[in-house]
Amino acid sequence: MPLNQYTIKILRDIKKRPPEKLDIMVQEIHEEIFAETDCQKCAQCCKKISPIIYQHDLIRLARALKMSLDGFCEKYLKIDKDKDYVFKSVPCPFLSSDNCCEVYDDRPTACREYPHTDRRRFHQLIDLSIKNADICPAVQKILERLVIVAEKNLAFKRR
Ligand code: SF4
Ligand code: SF4
Repeated sequence: MPLNQYTIKILRDIKKRPPEKLDIMVQEIHEEIFAETDCQKCAQCCKKISPIIYQHDLIRLARALKMSLDGFCEKYLKIDKDKDYVFKSVPCPFLSSDNCCEVYDDRPTACREYPHTDRRRFHQLIDLSIKNADICPAVQKILERLVIVAEKNLAFKRR
């Protein structure tokens, strides 16, 4: 479910005037929300978007699957509008029917880092996170909780 307009407005205010402890606050909320999230029941990120595949991901995946780089690219990858390698098909070709990642130990860096809510300088990722909230229910909860915490403890108020 998309974020409501009020939540988006407060998030944009936070982006404009990031509190000193924003990264620590978001990190704590990220940990709380993911402690209560079962990604295997969801897998929306693997079903709806493709990660960027960097050169090192390509090499690792091709090696794990005992394929040549060319063979791997031809079978699984395409170049998107930003000139990045992404998977040809969505849902991901390595997502199993029970929502497991068949290449988990060798999965792309972008899969390891998604949804980026534990990254430093979170204020720079607020716009991306607002978009990600449409796909990832955990991001939606993190942002909604962040707004509640910001209203309670910081000077981000309804105007
Ligand atoms: S490689 Fe694994 S974690 Fe990444 S999108 Fe595919 S199934 Fe999901
Ligand atoms: S969309 Fe979010 S909650 Fe769902 S599997 Fe991906 S990271 Fe986990």
